[in-house]
Amino acid sequence: MTREEYEERMSALEAETARAREVHIAAKSRFDALCDKQRVLRTAWQDQQKAAAASEKAAQATVAPAGFVIKNSAYPCRTKPHRGRHVHAAAYRTGTVSLTTACNKQQDEETVDHLDEDTPVTCPPCQRNTQG
Ligand SMILES: [Zn+2]
Repeated sequence: MTREEYEERMSALEAETARAREVHIAAKSRFDALCDKQRVLRTAWQDQQKAAAASEKAAQATVAPAGFVIKNSAYPCRTKPHRGRHVHAAAYRTGTVSLTTACNKQQDEETVDHLDEDTPVTCPPCQRNTQG
């Protein structure tokens, strides 16, 4: 290629790169904004859940800690991931050291705390999937 062709192709690529960079920056700031919105929503939800749990607790003096005590033979285990917040209803998969939760997560027995079967399940999907 001639120098002229080279410079023409390079400047076309540079222009395209600059456009892609703008798109990338716009997408990144949209991504960040969406992450922020998710965080805000999650926090609002958690606050609402806490408030609901607190008022329910106040209404019923005998109520157990937040969460449901659930007896469900399909998910007899109660697990809490080491860095997790929620107690899940779980069951060992036959012949493995892995558990499947009622909310359909896979857990390795090494990465979760194993709790008493009477421990209230606090994971909302697990609560839904083990009732009725
Ligand atoms: Zn769960």
